[in-house]
Amino acid sequence: MNLPKGKTAVVTGASAGIGEAIARKLVSADIRVLLVARREERLKALCAEIGKNASCMTLDMAETGAAQALLEAATKEFGTVDILVNNAGILRTSHVDEFDLDELDPMIAINYAAVVRTSILFARRMKTNSGGQIINLSSIGAGITAAGTGIYGGLKAALERFTEVLRIELAGSGVRVGLIAPGTTSTEIFEDMKAKGQPGWDEFIPAMEPEEIARAVLFMCEQSGNANAARIHIYATSEGF
Ligand code: NDP
Repeated sequence: MNLPKGKTAVVTGASAGIGEAIARKLVSADIRVLLVARREERLKALCAEIGKNASCMTLDMAETGAAQALLEAATKEFGTVDILVNNAGILRTSHVDEFDLDELDPMIAINYAAVVRTSILFARRMKTNSGGQIINLSSIGAGITAAGTGIYGGLKAALERFTEVLRIELAGSGVRVGLIAPGTTSTEIFEDMKAKGQPGWDEFIPAMEPEEIARAVLFMCEQSGNANAARIHIYATSEGF
């Protein structure tokens, strides 16, 4: 493992799927992790299972005060936060004939606004500390133009632009910024589609496992010296686009 001992991390959306796998992976690398999500019971059970290097905070990241509350709680818990992984997100497909417009604002709030707010507040603090790592979860959907993906893919594309500019603005400060864009990964994110009678995207091809995305997060965190792994795209082997 290429990481100094005693590092600390905050992972949003850590009660399930990719975020849970990231939390497990970072703890296995001797990093202390604060897991964040809304489902308290699930989060607490997971923390207890992962062990002493895991703690948890129940928080709806879509609320406007959540990023500040998280920064304060994480600082109280760790003193210094070395790694922030903005992973929490939802998927709602958006075909013009079917999209429920009530789902628009909640998707913007968690998939874009929350990541921007949290990135900015933690970046300012990390800059003061002259070091840190911010990782934002995008999607290969940011670069795919296909029916039903306009809003989700559009928000991920906006997030990629924001993340790239954040990296540029923090260049030379000691704060590394990167984005990870997974392809289809087997998680609960497709459950909303399935509940609406739509086929989940994970039903078309053999999907990746969350652990495979977590490995990329750890790789990004392991960068040292003058290296910053700024973009990692991970496609499922059957994804031919
Ligand atoms: P899951 O649905 O499995 O997990 C999503 C996580 O986000 C849960 O822990 C959920 O916890 C949390 N979450 C959702 N809304 C909020 C909120 N308002 N506040 C706090 N936490 C929240 O999804 P994935 O693991 O698949 O997705 C993780 C990230 O990866 C997302 O950003 C997604 O867009 C991205 N991604 C996923 C892909 C895939 O194929 N799975 C492909 C490409 C990108 P809780 O409900 O307890 O709050």
